[in-house]
Amino acid sequence: MMTGKEYIESIRRMDMNIWMFGEKIKTAADDPILRPSLNSVRATYDLAEQPEHEELMTATSNLTGKKINRFCHIHQSADDLVKKVKMQRLCGQKTASCFQRCVGMDACNALYSTTYETDQKHGTTYHQRFLEFMKKVQDEDLVVDGAMTDPKGDRGLNPGGQADKDLYLRVVERRPDGIVVRGAKAHQTGATNSHEILVMPTVAMKPEDKDYAVSFSVPIDTKGIIMIVGRQSCDTRKLEGSSLDVGNCEFGGMEALVIFEDVFVPNERVFMDGETDFSGMLVERFSGYHRQSYGGCKVGVGDVLIGAAALAADYNGAAKASHIKDKLIEMTHLNETLYACSIACSSEGTKTASGNYLIDLLLANVSKQNVTRFPYEIARLAEDIAGGLMVTAPAEKDLRHPEIGPYVEKYFKGVAGVSTETRLKIMRLIENITLGTAAVGYRTESMHGAGSPQAQRIMISRQSNIENKKALAKVIARIED
Ligand code: SF4
Ligand code: FE
Repeated sequence: MMTGKEYIESIRRMDMNIWMFGEKIKTAADDPILRPSLNSVRATYDLAEQPEHEELMTATSNLTGKKINRFCHIHQSADDLVKKVKMQRLCGQKTASCFQRCVGMDACNALYSTTYETDQKHGTTYHQRFLEFMKKVQDEDLVVDGAMTDPKGDRGLNPGGQADKDLYLRVVERRPDGIVVRGAKAHQTGATNSHEILVMPTVAMKPEDKDYAVSFSVPIDTKGIIMIVGRQSCDTRKLEGSSLDVGNCEFGGMEALVIFEDVFVPNERVFMDGETDFSGMLVERFSGYHRQSYGGCKVGVGDVLIGAAALAADYNGAAKASHIKDKLIEMTHLNETLYACSIACSSEGTKTASGNYLIDLLLANVSKQNVTRFPYEIARLAEDIAGGLMVTAPAEKDLRHPEIGPYVEKYFKGVAGVSTETRLKIMRLIENITLGTAAVGYRTESMHGAGSPQAQRIMISRQSNIENKKALAKVIARIED
């Protein structure tokens, strides 16, 4: 396994094509806006080194028998699925951000079973190819960026029906030694901090959409891959050099538009090419795993936010008020409900034909549907408890200024024994998670990440087995057909 330090160096060595604010960035490792997001991924390495977290953060590979980082693991039991969620909660608690490495873990597990079943039906050799790729990922302890979401253009048209054919990533050329792909994947979490990018189709495909049913992995610095980093609310505060003003002193997340401008993929890295009948399965399994993930990571960030709200109440002198206590109970209830559902979909996991474990898809979708709602309510309550100061507090430079600093100190003082600076730190953290850079991960990503709410409702409807429920009602009411 790599150490956190080795991981940073491995990213620095790559020759990525990253753009931000109209300028080319050499590496996320030395960029003040991107570095916090790299630190979050680094935490997945650092935590794996710590003996007290070994059980959650590491696993034994079913492919090599070696000890590996759990983010590279193929789940071998329902217990592995449960441990995955617990690991994500831990990482959320330690970073209060999106730590980005789950997308690849979820993509790898979805491809493990899908390539196996594709081969069974079509006589292809994708599974063996995928195993070779997986061994490399595990041995070298790589970060894999799972890539699913195409730009999609006109949502009313299917991939082949778009005026611009590149709006869904597709194969534009087939050669004896591989394929050439063109298109883009949007909202790519952790792209600049990844070694590999593992692409999957974004929807179930019809037979005429053969060129769009494609899955593969390439190093993210492959020729033709261009990353354009997305803006985040308050992102340029990171350029000011004040950890007080950014709220989260070390960690963050990042997303990018990743463009594939005629990228060559060698045959040994192609895991689906034209098997449109398996594209739906891959999408369903990947999104199922990633919906399970959200009941882990968001809960960990929620723990930090609840803690920050409770501290704000302490510093404001409001901790004893019964409505504050009740709001903290409500936040905890919502947060643990998210967790409960992800633990449930994990412990109800079952073995696939390939041997790895898949979560209960109905419960995973219910879990993510909850995530589209509860973090918003938790954030609302945190803002309620914090008070308006979380959005009106002056800058650190004002606090330190010889002339006006004493006024900031005096008029924003809360309870005795807690400095104004300490009170401002917790206000900024709440601002960061609910409205600032981390809000990408905690709020809007809770809504749209791993699929927008309607995508879960479609899956819930498919899995709900209403006919069985009708039959139950008929027996109880003694209705005979
Ligand atoms: Fe992992 Fe959560 Fe970020 Fe997805 S949103 S990559 S599950 S931390
Ligand atoms: Fe996500």
